[in-house]
Amino acid sequence: MPTVTSKLTIQPASARETIAMPEPQIAAFSVEKAYRKGEHLVPVLHGVDISIRKGEFLSIVGQSGSGKSTLLHLLGLLDSPDVGEVQLEGQRIDDLPARTRDELRNRVFGFVFQFYHLLPELSLMENVLSPLMIRHSIWGYWKRRKEYQERAREMIDRVGLSHRLTHRPSELSGGEMQRAAIARSLVAHPEILLADEPTGNLDARTGREIIDLLAKLNEQERLTIVMVTHDQAIAAEAHRTVKLCEGRIVPLSDAA
Ligand code: ADP
Ligand code: MG
Repeated sequence: MPTVTSKLTIQPASARETIAMPEPQIAAFSVEKAYRKGEHLVPVLHGVDISIRKGEFLSIVGQSGSGKSTLLHLLGLLDSPDVGEVQLEGQRIDDLPARTRDELRNRVFGFVFQFYHLLPELSLMENVLSPLMIRHSIWGYWKRRKEYQERAREMIDRVGLSHRLTHRPSELSGGEMQRAAIARSLVAHPEILLADEPTGNLDARTGREIIDLLAKLNEQERLTIVMVTHDQAIAAEAHRTVKLCEGRIVPLSDAA
């Protein structure tokens, strides 16, 4: 028996697993979340585990109300789990002080939403610059404005909107607004892009163009992308898909 023990010690199975499965960049472990509705607690997530590697393009599918947005918000520190934890590169982040979480959120994550959330009174260029304006003091922004404007232009170019710099959101199509929102989400060099139904308000062809853009950013910049969608065809463009059903991860083949 001692021989077996020493063999196991010398050649642990975990050595091979480490090579095959690198540490996740962002992960949630046994997260549970409920919302209060009047006197009642409405459970939304029932112990979800999810791990995403750096450079991965993951889609999360599931019916409306299955908890997809809630899970995305927990991963991106927009909300906290009741139970379980969220880790970034192996470190727990959901229990950090609010200010540290805010800083981490701004530095690490870019967000894209179904309804773009562009500011109507700002031009495309100003919308894309807005995260940098908000993050830095007026003086700090002013000192580096040339560099920031260049970065914004580069991002606007990357999403194919260079000819729309001074347009306001109301002068853009749905697809252009989503491209603008993607440029804005990338202007501060996030490591992880969290996209909640980014094609949900677009026709099929425009939606496909947005997914192609995300896939290109994922490939060229090695940007990690976690995308929520209820559209299986859109989801299939990602490297991997997980499915949520009533707050639990279920096999993809489940009909529900
Ligand atoms: P999905 O994105 O899959 O459609 P959500 O995560 O948005 O699902 O919501 C899951 C459930 O949680 C829904 O029943 C929704 O009504 C409820 N819910 C989500 N956010 C809140 C909130 N802030 N307050 C109360 N209930 C919420
Ligand atoms: Mg949702």
